[in-house]
Amino acid sequence: MDFIDLAAQQQRITDKLNANIARVLTHGQYINGPEVRELEKALADYVGVKHAIGCASGTDALLMALMALDIGPDDAVFTTPFTFIATAEVISLLGATPVFVDIDPQTFNIDPAQLDRAVEAVEKSDPAHHPLPDTAGGKLRPRAVIPVDLFGLPADYDAIGAVAARHNLAVIEDAAQSFGGEYRGRRAGAFGDIACTSFFPAKPLGGYGDGGMCLTNDDRLDAILRSIRVHGQGSDKYNNARIGINGRLDTIQAAILLAKFAIFPEEIELRQEVARRYNELLAGAVVTPQIPAGCKSAWAQYSVLARDSAERAALMTKLKEAGVPTAIYYPKPLHRQEAFASLDYREGEFPVSEDCASRIFSLPLHPYLPADDQRRIAAALNLISG
Ligand SMILES: *Cc1c(COP(=O)(O)O)cnc(C)c1O
Repeated sequence: MDFIDLAAQQQRITDKLNANIARVLTHGQYINGPEVRELEKALADYVGVKHAIGCASGTDALLMALMALDIGPDDAVFTTPFTFIATAEVISLLGATPVFVDIDPQTFNIDPAQLDRAVEAVEKSDPAHHPLPDTAGGKLRPRAVIPVDLFGLPADYDAIGAVAARHNLAVIEDAAQSFGGEYRGRRAGAFGDIACTSFFPAKPLGGYGDGGMCLTNDDRLDAILRSIRVHGQGSDKYNNARIGINGRLDTIQAAILLAKFAIFPEEIELRQEVARRYNELLAGAVVTPQIPAGCKSAWAQYSVLARDSAERAALMTKLKEAGVPTAIYYPKPLHRQEAFASLDYREGEFPVSEDCASRIFSLPLHPYLPADDQRRIAAALNLISG
């Protein structure tokens, strides 16, 4: 059994993949070829936003978004400690300071009430009501929040938007895991000033290599992102308007993603069925994911909570013995990572994230996971007879 089975998908679209790749080899425009624009248009339409800017990875998408918003030293950028390192890494890369905010225990996404408290704590430089990073006496300016749509479920954007408006924060949606998800009638990738997604192979819409995309409704930000993507390009190639990066999406990846996107909406529905079946099979044994009304997850991961870390270890061992791969996303919250040691956060400061990290684990999930495999998993956990 595979944790994610990319071969089953490939079999369905082999001819289209080969044709799309062959087309790139024939026209030879490996950088910024027509497939990049075609993919940008298709995904912007799907999400329902005006602009999509393909880039080299989800990490670059986040980096470019922060650069486009002029985030830098002395700026505070709020995000969750219960995410992949890339979300917060880009903040530090630009010399800004990540300010962590704990998560909601049901959705694993940033808690808007805590966000409000965290921004006030930064505004007043007062850690009495919310933990703050060590800034060696320096004062931070609250600038932006990066909500993460963890495991594919969009964060609570209405509540986050209200807090952001009150404190004049920009919002950057980390939709790396949620492409295909929905929140109150809008698709993931449509939230905030700029949304960022990833085409890493294991993501819901994954390519055969690295890739990512920024999405926005803002014409000005679109132009800036396009400039940043190519070394801060100005009116022509050798006219540089700003500091940028080499952040382009390869034409060949765009061609592959176009072939995959053709079946993507159907795959999102298949993921719903797999998740529904897990929820039925596993009810009572572990805490299964509950999707808030009006939301749809893209099911990048199917993550459950054991009672404690000992029970998690026992369940994972049982599954391993039955040939079922599992994974832990994420075993160590970011405020406890060596990379952020200089922020001097302490254990216990984000209790929900720490609790989840100690007992969460993920089961295999992909659109082609057979129902029989899911029953085998339940049987291995002694939930049904095998
Ligand atoms: C995967 C991921 C990223 C980074 O995407 P890459 O394409 O791997 O650079 C950022 N944020 C989250 C939440 C992710 O899961």
